[in-house]
Amino acid sequence: MKTDDAATRTDDSAATRPDASAVTLTDVSRVYGRGQGAVAALREVSLAIPRGSFTAVMGPSGSGKSTFLHCAAGLDTPTAGSVRLGGTELTGMNETRLTELRRDRVGFVFQAFNLIPSLTVLENITLPLRLAGTRPDRAWLDAVLHRVGLQGRTGHRPAQLSGGQQQRVAVARALATRPEVVFGDEPTGALDTMTARDVLTLLREIVDEMRQTVVMVTHDPVAASYADTVLFLADGRIVDSTERPTADKVAERMTRLGAWK
Ligand code: ADP
Ligand code: MG
Repeated sequence: MKTDDAATRTDDSAATRPDASAVTLTDVSRVYGRGQGAVAALREVSLAIPRGSFTAVMGPSGSGKSTFLHCAAGLDTPTAGSVRLGGTELTGMNETRLTELRRDRVGFVFQAFNLIPSLTVLENITLPLRLAGTRPDRAWLDAVLHRVGLQGRTGHRPAQLSGGQQQRVAVARALATRPEVVFGDEPTGALDTMTARDVLTLLREIVDEMRQTVVMVTHDPVAASYADTVLFLADGRIVDSTERPTADKVAERMTRLGAWK
């Protein structure tokens, strides 16, 4: 049925069409607690993240970055509004379906690597596939191992690797299921400057060469400068965004947000 409803027309625009966007948030709010003590961590955030793009999320401490990432990734449920992954509406999904969705369609890279020490590199990387009960796509796994530069180390344990190498394993693990989006919460936060650049270059490559979508929270303007778009959060709202960011431009915007007072 055709409809002239204005809201539907808006929804059909290129930016918010499900096939064009990896993640779509519409009027997403997240309130923690109730009554006097309630904290609005996100306030009516609307945004469409294009497929195959690299987005950085910045903002002062407490501005809602982690809450944004968790709501966008189906790790947290908004108080109001809608989140879509591709064409799939997350709102109203039960925990079982959300768990499956996170396992099969989303990848995560955390600050603290979160590798399992007793498993080898290859076992860590393929763990999400084994949990999902799917057989690894050998060609894809080889491409991932090649891309992250770990072909010679698949039998090592995490403790035998440097921090940067461990985060490369975590990136490979995030890619194993060929997810629609890879989310990172400060993925370079625990790495020294040189190693961090290495991992950021890798994230850039998986966007440019594997057409992955990456969404990364960071407090580092240099890290943000690897992204296509930087979103600036303040007090639970997206207050600005920058395309083709430079570290200087991002640092200057953060200073005006009072992030480093
Ligand atoms: P950021 O990642 O930018 O530092 P967060 O998303 O962690 O910000 O937090 C945004 C706001 O929500 C902050 O005021 C924080 O104190 C609050 N908040 C976050 N998580 C919780 C929670 N589980 N319970 C209560 N308040 C929370
Ligand atoms: Mg945070």
